[in-house]
Amino acid sequence: MTTQKHTIEVERLHKRFGKIDAVDGISFKVEKGQIVGFLGPNGAGKSTTMRILTGYNRATSGVAKICGVSVAADPHFIKRRIGYMPENNPLPLDLRVREYLKYRAKVKEIPFTKRRRAIEQALESCDLLRAQDRIIGKLSKGFRQRVGIADAILANPEVIIMDEPTIGLDPHQVILIRDLIASLRGRMTVIISSHILPEIEMTCDQIIIINHGKIVGQGSPAQLRDTFIDHTTYQVEIAGTTKELEAALATIAPELQVERISDRDEDGFATAEIQIKGKRDYGERLFKTLAEHPHLRTRSLRSKKAPLEDVFLAATRRSWEEVDEKLAPPLASSSPKTSAPQGTKAAAPPPSQ
Ligand code: ATP
Repeated sequence: MTTQKHTIEVERLHKRFGKIDAVDGISFKVEKGQIVGFLGPNGAGKSTTMRILTGYNRATSGVAKICGVSVAADPHFIKRRIGYMPENNPLPLDLRVREYLKYRAKVKEIPFTKRRRAIEQALESCDLLRAQDRIIGKLSKGFRQRVGIADAILANPEVIIMDEPTIGLDPHQVILIRDLIASLRGRMTVIISSHILPEIEMTCDQIIIINHGKIVGQGSPAQLRDTFIDHTTYQVEIAGTTKELEAALATIAPELQVERISDRDEDGFATAEIQIKGKRDYGERLFKTLAEHPHLRTRSLRSKKAPLEDVFLAATRRSWEEVDEKLAPPLASSSPKTSAPQGTKAAAPPPSQ
């Protein structure tokens, strides 16, 4: 096992396919034992980056290191250190689960005397013991994904890379796979890509947002919110008129706005979303003002985290605008520069890990 702090180091990685810069000079590091999520729209460059890390594709330039060793310099070393589950993982449908893992243990050069134990452990970790004698082609998609993960963890690698491991699964299976991935935390360094944003948020320590082959956001979910979300939202269950609520808010800060309000329930309560630009916390004053109000009745108050979806949209929209700006003809000198899109603050470099 390596003693490196960072099991994955990527520096100015570039991959060109003809005229397309699929990966355009990205750099990042992943600490040992962390789970990292790759987010990005279709065609952003996630799979290409993953394939370079696993040694399946060669980078056009730049360096990718696993456990301190360059992937390009020693692909054989790398393949023994990485478990890879590609997108739409192709499995031999006519083999039984255990048979397949036996074959994979041989391919992965697990010493003969350790194979049986490795297979047992992988079957157990993926809750596949009861399905070990079943034919892969007759398994549900969720079970097949688990076979893919069992294969990825079989040789107890230091790094696991999974390209959309939960694609096409029902919510029950998504939870099982998510728990399985979370159980690898601390034991293995894991990179997963997914389009299911809440899942990425629940599973990952760090998130890397890629767009057009570039990293446009990087950090923990809290750091990303801090970078891309420039407003604070409170949710309050309140009985009384909207006019009275607005007047009460104005006594705290004129910029506190009722963003939206639901219909009233049978007890006369509506859920209102109150928003203010910036990150100053008005929670305590809001609570006191509403609680002491002579005509408004308050049932609950909480501050509401922006969904990761908003972060994703802000990060990728910003980079679209930067690309549009590059493609646009030069503007007259009096024209204003493109400003940050609504709901985001001005471009800041992604925090380094
Ligand atoms: P998705 O979420 O749809 O899987 P992705 O973020 O994984 O997308 P990639 O598959 O890495 O994106 O593709 C990045 C870009 O590189 C796309 O424009 C894609 O068409 C292009 N590309 C990927 N592989 C090849 C290839 N082998 N030959 C030519 N172009 C390619």
